[in-house]
Amino acid sequence: MADRKHVVIVGGGFGGISVAKKLKGADVDITLIDRNNHHLFQPLLYQVATAALSPGDIATPIRAILGQRKGLQVLLGTVTGINRDQRFVELKKGQKISFDYLVLAPGAKYNYFGNDDWPNHAPGLKSIGDALQVRERILLSLEEAEQLKDPKLREPYLTYVVIGGGPTGVEMAGAIAEIAKRNMMRDYSTFSRNETRIFLVEAAPRILNGYPESLAEKARNTLEKMGVRVLLNTPVTDIGENKVTFSEGTIQTPNIIWAAGVAASPLLSALNTEQDRSGRVVVTDDLSLSDDDHIFVIGDAAHKEDSDGNPLPALAPVAMQQGDFVGKLIKRELKGKERKTFSFTDKGTMATVGRAKAVADIRGFKFSGLFAWLLWSIVHIFFLIGFRNRFRVFVEWMWHYLTFNRGVRLITDRQSNEEELIGGQEEKH
Ligand SMILES: Cc1cc2nc3c(=O)[nH]c(=O)nc-3n(C[C@H](O)[C@H](O)[C@H](O)COP(=O)(O)OP(=O)(O)OC[C@H]3O[C@@H](n4cnc5c(N)ncnc54)[C@H](O)[C@@H]3O)c2cc1C
Repeated sequence: MADRKHVVIVGGGFGGISVAKKLKGADVDITLIDRNNHHLFQPLLYQVATAALSPGDIATPIRAILGQRKGLQVLLGTVTGINRDQRFVELKKGQKISFDYLVLAPGAKYNYFGNDDWPNHAPGLKSIGDALQVRERILLSLEEAEQLKDPKLREPYLTYVVIGGGPTGVEMAGAIAEIAKRNMMRDYSTFSRNETRIFLVEAAPRILNGYPESLAEKARNTLEKMGVRVLLNTPVTDIGENKVTFSEGTIQTPNIIWAAGVAASPLLSALNTEQDRSGRVVVTDDLSLSDDDHIFVIGDAAHKEDSDGNPLPALAPVAMQQGDFVGKLIKRELKGKERKTFSFTDKGTMATVGRAKAVADIRGFKFSGLFAWLLWSIVHIFFLIGFRNRFRVFVEWMWHYLTFNRGVRLITDRQSNEEELIGGQEEKH
């Protein structure tokens, strides 16, 4: 009898989880390794950052998702090396795990284009830690503004700069505008909601690149009606402590959020194979490496072109469909069946701009406003999460969203944050 094959999956995001699920019932051992013990629903991270949801609402332990299965092991660890010749991956602690099939789904990270200092001043939104950092800055800023009676001195604390006009930047700017216009601001007595300034800064001539022009324009108009100033053709030239600089000038604020470029996981360079400009690995039609058909790369880490030659976007449905595909491919191959080629079924793109406001392009049909927002809600909550607790999350999220009640407004770790904001204590009541 042949040896049982071992499939190693790196990453418990949308891609990695889909592979593991699809392999259920296959005659293989599976090891899924992730540096976190949870799967993160990144599309709703901005709602944690803006105090609408708590971390537990959008993160689920990987073990809970996959459950107990014969031959399946989930490991908490960071993969730091890949030895293709000797067929093993290496963890940070030195442990070596051998594989017959390797599926890499380590996702992406924010790209600060070589400006190593910028992440300290302008966190991106990629992890629970990032979202909590942004949330804490926003809440601490409001507390600081409450203590300053000179409007000029409190201006930086009521200013928000979101860099990057993609879906994340648009969602983030819209959510901050909701906060500024409604609920949270009512709790403060010193300043008025009209003092809030929100900037969405984009280097390109338009926001929502990749969406139809008409929808991008609708989203921009909606944002502007909500009080967001959309600065197009405005590349950021520098980010420092509590300030962001463009060719036109500098904005002072501790609330700078990075939602610009992404780069694939640095782990991929260990493969020593072809990568695109963003570091994504160029894969073949069956998502394996051109020189190693037992190593697959999927999701945000992979460069795979559609039939028109355009790279597939870094979106959850792409990662999930690729994960399903590879899981099925391995299952079939173990039974001696031939490989098929991957093709992506585009079910549409959408982005929310604010409460009851969104834009959507579903197979060429364009929607905006309430209907698009309802579609966005259904797809995000029911289709993307797809886990047992989705109903609970849905109810909680709708409650916070519809009642304007930003429930999660705790500032923790106050001691260490106290020193960090701009030294604006000069003028107090
Ligand atoms: C703020 C934000 C909003 C988004 N909104 C949307 C949206 O509305 N709709 C949409 O479709 N997509 C959205 N996306 C994109 C979507 O989340 C990604 O396309 C999707 O998560 C990619 O799945 P993946 O499996 O490739 O990677 P991920 O889901 O990022 O998973 C990668 C996993 O690998 C683990 N990992 C990484 N490196 C290592 C290592 N060295 N060792 C061990 N583990 C490792 C990570 O911990 C992580 O769990 C958004 C992304 C962000 C950041």
